[in-house]
This record gives sequence, structure tokens and C-alpha cells, in this order.
Amino acid sequence: MTSHQIRQAFLDFFRSKEHLIVPSAPLVAKNDPTLMFNNSGMAQFKDYFLGNGTPPSRRIADTQKCLRVSGKHNDLEDVGFDTYHHTMFEMLGNWSFGDYFKKEAITWAWELLTEVYKLPKDRLYVSVFEGDAKDGVPFDQEAWDLWKPIVGEDRIILGNKKDNFWEMGDTGPCGPCSEIHIDLRPASDVAEISGKSLVNNDHPQVVEIWNLVFMQFERKADSSLIPLPSTHVDTGMGFERLCMAVQNKTSNYDTDVFQNTIQVLETLSGKKYGAGEEPFADIAMRVISDHIRAVAFAITDGQLPSNVKAGYVIRRILRRAVRYGYSYLGLQEPFFYKLVAVLADQFKDVFTELKSQEEFVTRVILEEEKSFLRTLESGLKRLDVIIGSLKVKGINTIAGDEVFELSDTFGFPVDLTALIAREKGFQVDELGFQDALAAQKKRSRQDAAKEATDWIELREADGVEFLGYDFEETHSHIIKYRKVKTKTGEEYHIVLDRTPFYAEMGGQVGDTGTLRWAANGEQKVATIIDTKKENDLFFHISKDKNLDDALQSAGIVVAKIDEERRDRIKSNHSATHLMLSAMREVLGTHIGQKGSFLNDEVLRFDFSHFSKVTDDELKRIEDRVNEKIRENIVLEERRNVPIQQALDLGATATFGEKYGDFVRLIIFDPSFSFELCGGTHVPSTGKIGVFKFISEGSVSAGVRRVEAVTGEKALELMRQQEETLNTIKDLLKNPTDLVKAVENLLDERSALQKRIASLENEKIQALKTSLLANLEKHSTFNLIVEKVDVPNADSLKQLSYELRDQVENLIAVFGADIAGKPQLSVFIAENIAQETGLNAGKIVKDLAKEIRGGGGGQAFFATAGGSDASGLDAALEKAKGLF
Ligand code: ATP
Ligand code: MG
Repeated sequence: MTSHQIRQAFLDFFRSKEHLIVPSAPLVAKNDPTLMFNNSGMAQFKDYFLGNGTPPSRRIADTQKCLRVSGKHNDLEDVGFDTYHHTMFEMLGNWSFGDYFKKEAITWAWELLTEVYKLPKDRLYVSVFEGDAKDGVPFDQEAWDLWKPIVGEDRIILGNKKDNFWEMGDTGPCGPCSEIHIDLRPASDVAEISGKSLVNNDHPQVVEIWNLVFMQFERKADSSLIPLPSTHVDTGMGFERLCMAVQNKTSNYDTDVFQNTIQVLETLSGKKYGAGEEPFADIAMRVISDHIRAVAFAITDGQLPSNVKAGYVIRRILRRAVRYGYSYLGLQEPFFYKLVAVLADQFKDVFTELKSQEEFVTRVILEEEKSFLRTLESGLKRLDVIIGSLKVKGINTIAGDEVFELSDTFGFPVDLTALIAREKGFQVDELGFQDALAAQKKRSRQDAAKEATDWIELREADGVEFLGYDFEETHSHIIKYRKVKTKTGEEYHIVLDRTPFYAEMGGQVGDTGTLRWAANGEQKVATIIDTKKENDLFFHISKDKNLDDALQSAGIVVAKIDEERRDRIKSNHSATHLMLSAMREVLGTHIGQKGSFLNDEVLRFDFSHFSKVTDDELKRIEDRVNEKIRENIVLEERRNVPIQQALDLGATATFGEKYGDFVRLIIFDPSFSFELCGGTHVPSTGKIGVFKFISEGSVSAGVRRVEAVTGEKALELMRQQEETLNTIKDLLKNPTDLVKAVENLLDERSALQKRIASLENEKIQALKTSLLANLEKHSTFNLIVEKVDVPNADSLKQLSYELRDQVENLIAVFGADIAGKPQLSVFIAENIAQETGLNAGKIVKDLAKEIRGGGGGQAFFATAGGSDASGLDAALEKAKGLF
């Protein structure tokens, strides 16, 4: 079976068991503050298990793009060194949300593996949770009883809490799990050592392929467990490992999932994979063919490489790959970007998003690669300097903080430093490096330190209702809250059962406003400074100590947003939509959203486009948007439209954004602007008033950014510009033609500069004549030591060089006081410098002591500056004594 068939067979099998097949969520986790990237199949369903939402079906199956390179699951360091851990991999999964349980999960898993994929039964082992006395959870008898007739007792392994008890987090749903492992060793090895003893022992050919999790408990904050009202199934099977098993290989990289990229690498490097002669070349090919997947799919899903957070993780993965190619495959020109095409083709029917952004992703990677290769080169130079100076000192270890500097400032990886050092007979202080790294981590942890209490529940509620599309004010109850210590003081996070406050999302800032309530016949009020969202939970942020009182009384509060601010936000959001449509008309349909931010002041928009947007194009976009504003198009808002229907209608969706099954459509004239959007918008475009760009620039390779303002802000901006203009007019005494007046001024200025230059030159010529008259003639050289009056330091050089052309065997030492700053220069005719070993650089350094300064240069000409002009005479006196 090909990998395509294997994936399809999984989905078909569960479809036949009445599962709804859903698409993979984007690789980049946008809505979950505890995750940067989706790292398991269940991540996109978390809210269903937490009771914050209802699944579209009680049975779901899919293949999910996962990335395990940070946080709880980080396999990065193993990737390439072993043959079955990847950074990005596909997790095949089937779920039951309060529907079937262990019996179906177990029998179906077995049926699929042995009947559809025909994996040999005598090579499969399963594990069952042995129980945990401390938690008071018994041995999973139910799973045991289900497995026993299927696999036989001797193929079941008991597992402890670490391997066989799954928990969503410190609190929340959890339960025992059952893993399925496969032994892929040759028969002769199996005969010698039983596979059972190798399960969970890091053997590369005895690996876990599938994990079946049975959620039946909930962990409370005091760490006690209570049974869940309904039980769920969550399974995850590593697709690449499954392919290895079905295709009867001993490494994931030998399957058709990776062979395409490996073959390209063979061609590029001229090395053969698996030849065994250069183990690091094999590792490098595995690293690269793995990493390109992570990098390409992350960029596709909207995560560009950058210097912070998730962007930095992607940049590091990219650099790891490029460096392995550089060091072990001799690939010293950009090559990584070439692999995008291979992947885009391979996945064109599975994850279509890569094919449709192929050119963009390729360009981004190429630019990153180029810049990293430059970094590598400057790092190599820096390393040469370090090693050079150690040689002089007779030390053979590179200090930890130097290794750290190389990695931190030059992005120069530690193992590469160690490798190069070793080649040159040096070693690196690993421990010292670790210390420096730990110190830095500590610093950044302290910077980010935030301490939150548990959520404190005040009353039951079925989730949060957002009413802000229709109301500015609601009567609400506080359902829970927590306090969070931040660097700027303590914050309250308040969750209401219903709210008009929009929580920051989709680029739109959160609302601000007030909560009001009555206590002891008195009106109280607290200011809300922001509204945010974690998973599907909206919370209002406040620093108002007043709130303690509201939390005590737990009565009704009136939640009211700052309407004026919201109106300005609405204008900016609707203008962003109009602008995107106008951009597509003017620049082309390739324009895709790569990031967006808008508040009550400005709108900022990042988009894929490969060249600067010209002034003329900007003007045309601006004109088009303003035209649509003047048309005063009435907003057409449609809620709860099934996603497929929306897409079929031609609505614009953003890559990497996860949409629910039902979406909201924002339409300003269906033939113009038609978008999926959860934000708030003006009732008709006329409200926007006016739209004006304020900047255009590049963010990174292939991504441009524009900023614009609307309404009052635009007016304010125009006023400011007008004021600046008026001030300039005043300064120029109100000329009739301002531009002409400024041009005249500039012309005059350059004419004056020319005159000054020529006067200065005349002065130097006069000076030269008087100096020549004072020339001291000696038998082997001609000497001038003189304090001169020149306009700038360059004149000393000019003077020396011009005299050289007129006087043989010249030695000239000048001192000058240039606007209070003393300057010295020493000139020694080249032939004299060579014959006598006299060195102008050394001499000027010595003389500079008199003016409290320093300098240097070449053997025949050198200069110095200082801070004490009163020492000039002494310096010149000293110079006279030298010759
Ligand atoms: P392992 O112990 O092998 O790292 P795990 O216990 O971390 O696996 P789970 O979190 O249970 O794995 O994930 C479910 C399945 O996903 C595993 O059975 C395995 O097939 C697959 N899997 C997990 N991590 C990776 C990875 N880094 N690369 C490829 N497949 C993986
Ligand atoms: Mg793992």
C-alpha cells in the first residue's frame, strides 16, 4: 500500500463506522495560550472535552498535522538521530464524545490493523494500565478483559501511570490508556529476544504505533479524581510509523513519505542515503527531509520565521536543517527551499493549502536560508578570531560565554561550534555554555513571570454568550474569576455569563468599558481595560480593587463597552475588508492575509506580495476604498452559515485560521467584499468617513505591511500635515510658491558649500607655501613640524599628501585645534619608513598622549584625535625631538 492508500484506508474505515471525517486543524495553535503548535489530534477538540462546546458529531476521525518541538512534547533533539520521531507528523485519530467506549475502540483498532492493513498478529503487543494506589485508580480490568481474547494474555503488558494514564493538564479530563506496539525486527532477532521485553525500551524497531485513551475521570484542582458524567475516547496513531509497519520497513524514512525528498537530497549532494560510510550524512538527510515538512507547513499555516516565540521555533528548525546540509552534505548554497515543490506535490490532495501557497512558502524559505548562510559566515569569522586569540594565549578551550555569544548573537549553533573547534584541535566549555544559557533563560522567565490563581467559580452557567454584535450593554452575572499577578500589578480576570465585550481575536483588539453594580444602595463601578479569550472562554481584565466587592455580592452587574472606541474600531475593521478587496483588484488575486491588527487608532495589515506597492498603486487602492465608503454600502451580516456553503458562495477565508462548522459572513456588496469574519463592523460604509494610508513597507521575504487610518484619525492626520506645512511657510516668510522657495534654498545651500570648499582650498594652498618656506633640511630627510590652522581633520591629510608631491624624503608632523578638538597627523615618506623602520602609527600614538587621546594608521601616515588642545604644543615639541 502507498502512504496515500494507507491514510485513505484509515479514514474510509472509520467513515464506515459512522464517523464524521473532518479536516486537520492548522499546525499553529491560535486560540490556546498553553500551546504554540498543535501537538496531538485531540488539541482541536479540547473544548468539547472541557464542555465549552458541542461537537458536530459524537464520532469524529481525521488526520491531524502535529508538531512536537516545544513545551510538554519536544522531540526535536531525537529527530534524525532516530528513525521514528519527527518534528511534524500526522496523527490519525478517532474520537467518541460521550458515545462508544473501550469495547468499540479496542475491537476496531484491532480490526483495522490486522484485517485492513494485514499487520502480523504475532508482532503486535498491547499495554493496559496497571492502576495507581495513590490516585485510588484500579487496574484497568475492562481493557484487559477486552484485549485478552483478541491478543492472548502473553501479549499484554501492564503499564504504570507514566506510560498508561493520560491527563489533559494539571486539571481536567483524564483516564487510562492502552497502547499498541509493533515488533519490526527480522525473524532471527525475534527468535533470540522476545519483542515483549523490548516494548517501551527505545528500540528503533519495536515502537508504539497507536495510543487509545479512555477518558473517564476528571482531575480537580486539589488533585482528587471524580468520574466524568460521560466517557470519551481519544486515539492517536502515528501515520509515518504506521506506513513503516505496513510497508514492512525498519525506518520511517524508508517509506514513500520521505523517499521523495531524500532522493532530491541525494542528487543535490551527490551522496547516497544509507550507504553507511558517512553516518552524519545519513542523519543530515533525515533531519532535512523531516524539517522541511515542519517549516513548510508552519509557514503555510501562517507562522513566519521570526525572532520571537513560535516564529523563533520555526526559524531554529529551519536553521538546524540548513546547517546539517552545510556541514555534512556540502550544501553551501541555498538548497532547502527547493524541497517545497516536492512536498507541495506529495500533499496536493491531502493538505491542499501548501500547493496553493507554494511560491510564497518557497520564497520565504529561500530568503531565510540566504540570511542564515550569511550569519554562518560571519559566525565562522568570529570563531576564527576567538580561536586565533586563544592560540596566542596557549589555551585550547573556548569559554562558555563565547560559545553562548556565538549562538545568541550569530545564531551559530553550539554543536557546530564544537564541531569546528574539534577540527582545529580545540574544545568548547559545554558546562560554561549551559550555565550561560540557564542564566539567560532565567532572565527571560523573570521577565515573563505571571502567577495565576485557579478559576474560582461563583455560579453554574452553560458557557458564555457574546451579545456584542447587537448590544452595547448587558445585565450579566459573574460566573467565575481569577487573580493574576503581572509585572504591572494584580489583574482580575472576570468571566460573565453574557457580555457585549468583544475579546481580542482575528486581529481586532478587545473592548474596554465598565462593570457597574449596586451595593448597599450605592452605585459602584470598575473599569475594564481589555477583553481576551482563552480557548472559547471570554474574560474581562480589570485592575480595579473595587471589584472585590462585586465578587462578594455576586449579584447582577451591568456590563457596558466604551461605545465611541468601539465605533472607531468598527470603522477600522470594515475598512480593512474594503481595502483587501481593493488590493485584490489593483495588485492581483494572490494577495493573501498574513497578519492583521486593528484598534481604535490604526489598522495594520500584512499580506503576501513580492514587490513594493508603488505610490500609484497605493493611490488607486485608496481611491477605490473611498469610493466604496461614499457608496455607503449597507452591511449584510449573516450568522450561522454552514462553512461549506460560505466557501461555495466564494467567501474569502484566511489560511491557517481555524473556522467552526458555522461561520459568520460579512458582506459589503457581494460582488465586492465577502468575508468570513467574527469581528464588529459599521452598519454602512459611509460611517468610515475617509480612508488614508500612512505607510507601506516590508515585513519579511514576500510579506508587505500597510498601515492606514480612518475617520477622525485620518482628519487629525491631515490637520497635522497641514500644520507642519503652515509652519514651514511661516519660516520661509509665506512665499507664493512654497516648493520653489525650498528648491531655491537648497540650491543656494549647495552653491555656498562649493564656495566654502574653494575658499578652504585656497587657504590650504597659502598655508602650503608658508610651510615650504620653513622646511628644515637634513641630510637624509626634510622636516616640517608645525601647528596649523585648518578647517577640519581631512585637511591635514590633504596637506600632507600635497606636500609629499613637492618635497622629497618628507617627514611632516602637524597639530591643529579644530573647534576645540586637538588633532595630530604624522607623515613619513614611504621610502624612509621602509628603510628606517620609522612608523607613523606608533609615533602618533605616542604623541597623542600629550593631548589625551589616541589614534593610529599606517606606517607612512597616521592621525590621532584628543581631548586636551592645550597639549598640542608639547606634542609638537616632542615630535621635534624625535627626528
Ligand atoms: P513515543 O513514546 O514514541 O514518543 P508518545 O507516547 O509520545 O510516543 P503519544 O503522545 O501517545 O506518543 O502519541 C500517539 C502516537 O503518535 C504514538 O503512538 C506515535 O505513533 C505517534 N507519535 C508520537 N510522537 C511522535 C513523533 N515525534 N513523531 C512521529 N510520531 C509520533
Ligand atoms: Mg513522545
